[in-house]
Amino acid sequence: MTIESPHLGGHASAALAEADRLMTVCNSCRYCEGLCAVFPAMEMRRAFPDGDLNYLANLCHACGACYVDCQFAPPHEFDVNVPKNFAAVRAESYQAYAWPRALAPLFARNGLAISLIAAACVAIFIAVFVGVHDSAALWGRHTGAGAFYKLMPHNAMVVLFGVAFIYAIVATLLSVRNFWRDIGAPTAGRHQPRRVWQAIKDASTLRYLDGGGVGCYAEDERPTDNRRLYHHFTFYGFLLCFAATSVATVYHYLLGLAAPYAWYDLPVVLGTIGGLGLLVGPAGLLHAKLVHDPALEDKSRLGMDVAFLAMLFLTSLTGLMLLFLRASPAMGILLAVHLGVVFALFITMPYGKFMHGLYRFAALVRYAQERHLP
Ligand code: SF4
Ligand code: SF4
Repeated sequence: MTIESPHLGGHASAALAEADRLMTVCNSCRYCEGLCAVFPAMEMRRAFPDGDLNYLANLCHACGACYVDCQFAPPHEFDVNVPKNFAAVRAESYQAYAWPRALAPLFARNGLAISLIAAACVAIFIAVFVGVHDSAALWGRHTGAGAFYKLMPHNAMVVLFGVAFIYAIVATLLSVRNFWRDIGAPTAGRHQPRRVWQAIKDASTLRYLDGGGVGCYAEDERPTDNRRLYHHFTFYGFLLCFAATSVATVYHYLLGLAAPYAWYDLPVVLGTIGGLGLLVGPAGLLHAKLVHDPALEDKSRLGMDVAFLAMLFLTSLTGLMLLFLRASPAMGILLAVHLGVVFALFITMPYGKFMHGLYRFAALVRYAQERHLP
């Protein structure tokens, strides 16, 4: 998957060569072995090829504890800064494993790419809505069952978003498969379900984002649990929004009930709670990122991080605005904007920060395998 360079000690990039140097130092020191999963996994190795370094980097949750605790951190001449280097390695790994390869360059200037794609999608939806409908229909009030479908037929929505969603699923799975193969994970054995379950528990609680038990280090040396809290708002908000869409599909096809639904109907309740989580979580993570100690950050990837958080926030914001203003004349334009943002979110998922959750989960499965957990 990666092309090794003789000028970088056989590694594919300067970040990977530096990761090899750091892991060699840490493997001699081992002071941080109780902080997270990275160090026990490191101790199982004597050499660090690129696949293993990508695995270790995706196990890291960037809590900063090993940097704060390290006696070899700058200004020491060993210049050990694991979280910063691993952030760069992780970001490179998203590009290295992307499927198809032709779209991997989208990771290079990711913030700009996602912004342009999102703007184009919203503009196209608005242009089509304006072009297809006369102003009376576009700015009119549409209420009752099937109101949305007077502006975009249900079948057209299903086909368009179904194709985008299936593409996103295929591209993300094939990217994760590339990662899985390169980190040397064994094929599934009889303990695999238990190992996957262990990884689900570790990922759903963000077990290794706790800085070894004290919390995550942000702008100073006082650790807090804020990053874990906002990750939870984001992750569970996303899951609830997905559940809302799934329940709405059942309502439509099995119960014959067309959207929009009343505020007390399950899709709306799930979507509203999930949407609030997707406002609070990304906003909190964005704030945490801006105040995060710059010594721990790979600032060159800030655009990718901000673009993904902004996409989640805008998806939720436009969805909630559509919910609260759906009986007003603004419904038509709000529907176009919301659909444009959601469509852009779907098609850019395999080429943005969304992938960090999947690679991290795969790394946790690998960790449970090689450590024979539970
Ligand atoms: S980060 Fe520093 S203290 Fe921790 S294991 Fe590595 S060298 Fe040792
Ligand atoms: S930053 Fe945190 S999660 Fe990453 S290696 Fe250091 S202690 Fe482990």
